[in-house]
Amino acid sequence: MATISALDLAMVRNIGIMAHIDAGKTTTTERILFYTGINYKIGEVHEGAATMDWMEQEQERGITITSAATTCSWLDHTINIIDTPGHVDFTVEVERSLRVLDGAVAVFDAVAGVEPQSETVWRQADRYGVPRICFVNKMDRVGAEFHRCVDMIVSRLGATPLVVQLPWGVESDFKGVIDLVKMKGLLWSAEAAKGEMYDTVDIPADHADAAREWRDKLVETVAEHDDEMMELFLEGVEPTEEQLVAGIRRATISGTLNPVLCGTAFKNKGVQPLLDAIVAFLPSPLDVPAIEGHAVGSEEQKIERAADPKESFSALAFKIMADQHLGKLTYIRVYSGTIEAGTSIVNSTKGKKERIGKIYQMHANKREERPSAAAGQIVAVMGLKDTTTGDTLSDPANQVVLESMNFPAPVMNVA
Ligand code: GDP
Repeated sequence: MATISALDLAMVRNIGIMAHIDAGKTTTTERILFYTGINYKIGEVHEGAATMDWMEQEQERGITITSAATTCSWLDHTINIIDTPGHVDFTVEVERSLRVLDGAVAVFDAVAGVEPQSETVWRQADRYGVPRICFVNKMDRVGAEFHRCVDMIVSRLGATPLVVQLPWGVESDFKGVIDLVKMKGLLWSAEAAKGEMYDTVDIPADHADAAREWRDKLVETVAEHDDEMMELFLEGVEPTEEQLVAGIRRATISGTLNPVLCGTAFKNKGVQPLLDAIVAFLPSPLDVPAIEGHAVGSEEQKIERAADPKESFSALAFKIMADQHLGKLTYIRVYSGTIEAGTSIVNSTKGKKERIGKIYQMHANKREERPSAAAGQIVAVMGLKDTTTGDTLSDPANQVVLESMNFPAPVMNVA
């Protein structure tokens, strides 16, 4: 039996990237896959682009997200990016993808600010209580205004943005970002932080005053939204960087604060700190409430399933895709228990027996066969015959139905 510990689960982030069309969702996703990709280190080559110089060429657009969930890793954490069809209005598909993720990155265009479609997906994410961080993209564009976008997050979305970075320069003078809190402080070794590819900069002298002011504001805002931080604040104790990051994390997960970062995905600035923030602030499957389902045949009889690899197995099928090599692939989120390849399970929504064939984790440029999948993980499985999206897969001895017949389901944990 493959084992996965709670520690492993704490290192998982299931996230979506949501944006108004053209804000840069695709570019940001590509850059994330680039920076997290084993094969994408600068100087190395990857399939089909032997002479690729990432920083200059356009052909990099070939690396794009084509599967319903793509797995990558950052700072020893596993990040599953679930494709969130953010460019359409209210649909079951959007709702379903929001349901299987634990946190999200909302990408905004620094020139256009908060656009109508950003509002639509933001409200949908509110319905599902999805914690969010914001990325103000396109800081290199003429007319980019970081603070205007932050103000719009307040006025249009009614959210409480927490500025955790300041832009250094703007438009063609955009040089990078200034971290007001060390998101990577706990996570990056000093050496890695100095790595060539890392594009966060030390605070330049002429920006130091503004940064200090914003840093004070940040500490105050976190204290207003987090009891532990408030205690320190009242005692006049300066929080350590570790305490501050933990406070921001709690407030983000509870949905009261939305950390805001900025950069330009297109010019590869700010994407690595964004990855740091995903790891530092967004929840793991252990940080979100247990999922509630119901007994087979009775929607009144509620059943809770905790994200525990040792619980009875339950999973939700959220997307069916045809893979050109593998045929029908069913993407599932495992909510509880552990499933191994080759086991028999039941589709408890349809009352049909199913057999899990091979289990895969899908990466940007390869797929990886896994012997098993445990609570909190998102994988693609082969071999399911009768399963369609929205169906629950269960341990035959202990069944549950996770999605009601009249999905979109009521909100479980709106902040
Ligand atoms: P999506 O519709 O949200 O997926 O947006 P895309 O990622 O396809 O980007 C839309 C357009 O904006 C493309 O032409 C990108 O090259 C461009 N773009 C994306 N990010 C940036 C950026 O940071 N700066 C600038 N100037 N252009 C960008």
